[in-house]
Amino acid sequence: MTDETEPEGPVLYHLDDSCGIEDVEEGNAYAGYVNGTADYGVFVSLNDSVSGLIHESNLASPLEVGEETKVRVEEIRDDGNLSLTPVHMHDYDEMYVGSDGVEEGGGERTPLGEIVEGDEVTVEAEVLSVRQTGGPTIFTLADGTGTVDAAAFVGAGERAYPEVDEGDAVRIGGEVESREGDLQIETEELELLEGDEGDDVRRRLSEALDERAEPPELEPLVDSEILRDLYPALRRVAKRVRRAVLKDRPVVVRHHADADGMASGVAVERAVFSLLDEVTDDPEAQYHRFSRMPSRAPFYEMEDVTRDLNYALKDVERHGHPKPVVLMLDNGSTAEDADAYRALEAYDIPVFVVDHHSPDDVIETYVEEHVNPYLEGGDYSVTSGMLCVELARLIEPSVEDELLHVPAVAGKGDHSEASEMEEYVELAREQGYDEAHVDDVADALDYESYQLKYDDGRHIINHILDVEENDVHDELVPHLKSLAEEAFERQTDAARPQIDEISLPNGATLCTLDVENYTHKFTFPGPGKTTGRLHDEKVEEHDGNVVTVGHGPDFCVIRAQGVGINIPEIVDELQDEIEGAGVDGGGHLVVGSIKFVQGMKEEVLETLYSKIADAPLKEQDN
Ligand code: MN
Repeated sequence: MTDETEPEGPVLYHLDDSCGIEDVEEGNAYAGYVNGTADYGVFVSLNDSVSGLIHESNLASPLEVGEETKVRVEEIRDDGNLSLTPVHMHDYDEMYVGSDGVEEGGGERTPLGEIVEGDEVTVEAEVLSVRQTGGPTIFTLADGTGTVDAAAFVGAGERAYPEVDEGDAVRIGGEVESREGDLQIETEELELLEGDEGDDVRRRLSEALDERAEPPELEPLVDSEILRDLYPALRRVAKRVRRAVLKDRPVVVRHHADADGMASGVAVERAVFSLLDEVTDDPEAQYHRFSRMPSRAPFYEMEDVTRDLNYALKDVERHGHPKPVVLMLDNGSTAEDADAYRALEAYDIPVFVVDHHSPDDVIETYVEEHVNPYLEGGDYSVTSGMLCVELARLIEPSVEDELLHVPAVAGKGDHSEASEMEEYVELAREQGYDEAHVDDVADALDYESYQLKYDDGRHIINHILDVEENDVHDELVPHLKSLAEEAFERQTDAARPQIDEISLPNGATLCTLDVENYTHKFTFPGPGKTTGRLHDEKVEEHDGNVVTVGHGPDFCVIRAQGVGINIPEIVDELQDEIEGAGVDGGGHLVVGSIKFVQGMKEEVLETLYSKIADAPLKEQDN
């Protein structure tokens, strides 16, 4: 098709990928490339889907596959095949054929992924963000093949093209220059593409991104029904993360501050870094397009989300970054997370959750994807670290090799008794990490996450997990492990004599401990882990059927073995039964914590103990 804007002289047409055979016109010359050869001629593609044949008799000189060439369409046959001849052109105008018409090219449209320093280019792209510097206005562009900044200058600090905003489609002409190692287009012309034209650019970007974001086809590392069931959801999260990275969108990871949580966060971090390496030349990308932070609380506290939002919004302003996506790992599936999610929702920041804690339905309103064994009939025993290593492989499969021992570490950290554990432990052994060492790594990680508090500890954690080149792992892990052990002994030695033991009518033993007065405060291990360790001792001593409650001024932690309690349910009941106690909390069925107001401690604990006394014994599963 042609229209009245056609120049008078010879014209070379460029056929957009969105065009079909119906957009090709007999007699016109087109830019193409050789996509195959045969005895009887060569096949030339005019775009991704339209190609034709130059018959051997019309070939003056041989053409090679991949070679760019110009051809004339001699005939469009009834069967849709194109008959082509080579054409030699010198002075000519270029026109660009889209699915909805022909435009003056003024030069070929260059994919952003292919621009080269020094070139005069015309690009069509979506504006990801706009930022005003003290000099030019910077438009960050994406077209699915890459992202690049375009600088436009009208006056120092003056907004160029104020009509152009984030999300708009533009055609920009200019020269490609290098700025601090990054390519940048010095904008000479900018045209806002509206209506069909703009939609076309956005659709092209979206399709290209979609295709590039598609995760690889993989099978889980171990034979596991629950992992297979969760794979479609993991793929969807992987795709969203890949899409974010490809679109220059920062990824914010929040995870639980323990071995399983750290393993989860690091696995995803390694995958995102590897993908960033592939898609950007920016050496700083690891710092300003990704952040990973542990959450001290087992949920997304308002304090944490406020901090994340604060940083994200400043980055939007200062660096022109798009708003981030948030990934919650080993965390994020309970009702306590909802307030934080509502704050993110106000800013249109999407949240994806990969967790193995017993989930509350209420969060489904706020999160875009939620991967959780509980949603597929599984439970806590398949840990987040196991899920996140699978997620990491789906984000960037090349990281698999360095992560093969990580699921075993994660499982050990959470005392997983999943059937998958055996295979994971074997997988780790094949990488040279025997089971005892895997256990030590988990303990070292737990210990170090306590010391790190609010920091990610990027390299230290990588060294402990041994996922980054280092020569400290073999020395560091035993050191941290023995520090952890000493610390455990210090706490438990002080606390052990203070445990009260009561034999319950149901045959179980209730052990209670005042962790506020009989353990060291603000040191590793905290009340939860200390109670857990003492609980394990009591289970051993009584051969099962033990519930241990460690109580502080306004909280208690609960561990049960062989007794069928349901902590989330108990929390609900306490809320109903005791007015003004401010009861909150939860966790898993038999591992959890409850908060209350200090003045109601006695009443809450008494009621709690009576519920434990009423609980049925379970068949021994240890
Ligand atoms: Mn966990």
